[in-house]
Amino acid sequence: MNFIETRGNDGKNPAEVTFSEAILSPIASFGGLYVPKELPALGKEFLEKHLNSSYKELAKDMLTRFQIDIDGAVIDEALALYDKFDDASNPVPVVKVKNDLYVSELYHGPTRAFKDMALQPFGVVLSSIAQKRGENYLILAATSGDTGPAALETFKNRANVQVACLYPDGGTSDVQRLQMVTEDAKNLKVIGINGVFDDAQNALKHLLASERFKAELKEKNILLSAANSVNFGRIIFQIIYHIHSYLELVRQGEIAMGEKVYLNVPSGNFGNALGGYYAMKMCIPVEKIIIASNENNVLTRLINLGKYDLNGHGVVSTTSPAMDILKSSNVERILYDMFGDKRTKELMNDLDTKNVYELTAQELSTLQEVFAADYCNGDEGKKYIKDTFESGYLMDPHTATCFKAYETCATKEYVTIAYSTAEWTKFSPTIANALTGELDASDIDALEAISQEAKLSIPSMIAGLFSKAVVQKTVIEKEQIEEEILKFL
Ligand SMILES: *Cc1c(COP(=O)(O)O)cnc(C)c1O
Repeated sequence: MNFIETRGNDGKNPAEVTFSEAILSPIASFGGLYVPKELPALGKEFLEKHLNSSYKELAKDMLTRFQIDIDGAVIDEALALYDKFDDASNPVPVVKVKNDLYVSELYHGPTRAFKDMALQPFGVVLSSIAQKRGENYLILAATSGDTGPAALETFKNRANVQVACLYPDGGTSDVQRLQMVTEDAKNLKVIGINGVFDDAQNALKHLLASERFKAELKEKNILLSAANSVNFGRIIFQIIYHIHSYLELVRQGEIAMGEKVYLNVPSGNFGNALGGYYAMKMCIPVEKIIIASNENNVLTRLINLGKYDLNGHGVVSTTSPAMDILKSSNVERILYDMFGDKRTKELMNDLDTKNVYELTAQELSTLQEVFAADYCNGDEGKKYIKDTFESGYLMDPHTATCFKAYETCATKEYVTIAYSTAEWTKFSPTIANALTGELDASDIDALEAISQEAKLSIPSMIAGLFSKAVVQKTVIEKEQIEEEILKFL
């Protein structure tokens, strides 16, 4: 299966690329993204076949249907990393929370956030492609807190790959920062920036597009790639757990095969939601994909009003920082799928030049056939955390945003699968505040308080962070990023 471009082809880029090529250079003509030329049609037959499959068997078959240019043995090695999740036989538990609301827990991997679902296997795939080609890659990652730790963890000491990871200093939780700055491996460089996540992401986009930077790398015999969620090598692994979650509900007897569900996704860069969209197109029956946001509610406004408008909207810091994003990159792949490459190019050009694009009434109704959206502010989120804890389930502030959208958008009699994207351990001060009212607890104090209150132990990979040496100490202005990275190489 080959890949084509969301904004059409400029006549200079190849008209189609392989999966490996789309992974290695994820930015396409006119600044667009790569998408599969077509999706494998899996249908009900695929669901029935995998009703009793393990996560890995399901994943292997789905990846095989994509006919990507990756050896079966490499795919097996990549999928074997799910064996290191809390429960090797079920890396993604789906838990009933109340009535017709279920939570699919995507955080049982090494860094306790859902980024592991895709980045764990992606690290193996990318390193193996690089080795096969005899090439060396610099992976640039920009993180609002969870991608960074997961990218560092997956590429640590892998052959033919170095990582430079940019994060907004002060824009992540202590745990997230410690997960990055304590990563000690020769092929990893962590850089704090005085700025917000969009500054880090813009710097990354700028470097990826810079011919001069690429030329400097070339002199060192290094090529450039990115591990952000625009990379299809991540998206492909994010389709699987949506199919798995659906099958889990059938297995648990909660729905009948073929029955529709709501998918309810806490969204930032829209990778998770896009995975759900592809899963829906390929096989699972979905009534609507409900997009939950925080106060940075640009997606809510797009889906409800048809306008992607950044004018007058700066990023605000919230209690769900992994969703503090205004330019939600993967929405572009939905635009492409619904409206084609010419229209996508037009809309994305409007966004670049005018900071806004507007859908026609007809386009908006096409979008609303699939998506619904709402946002949840920090106080509402804390109330959901507290109330839900009192009825027996502990969740993080990102997951909590889904609960509001569930109430307002899941209006029909279908079961809802909400996705839990982080463990409580990653955002403990907010949760402690929600549960006990305590303000400004440090991460470690909050972890201990919640651990006692909820009678849950702190997993060793989190508890151990506080006594680990900080080895990554760089914090700089965004103008210095390029120089700093070249120094590291
Ligand atoms: C990355 C992340 C999100 C947003 O996911 P997208 O795929 O970027 O929409 C939500 N919650 C948490 C905890 C995350 O780490």
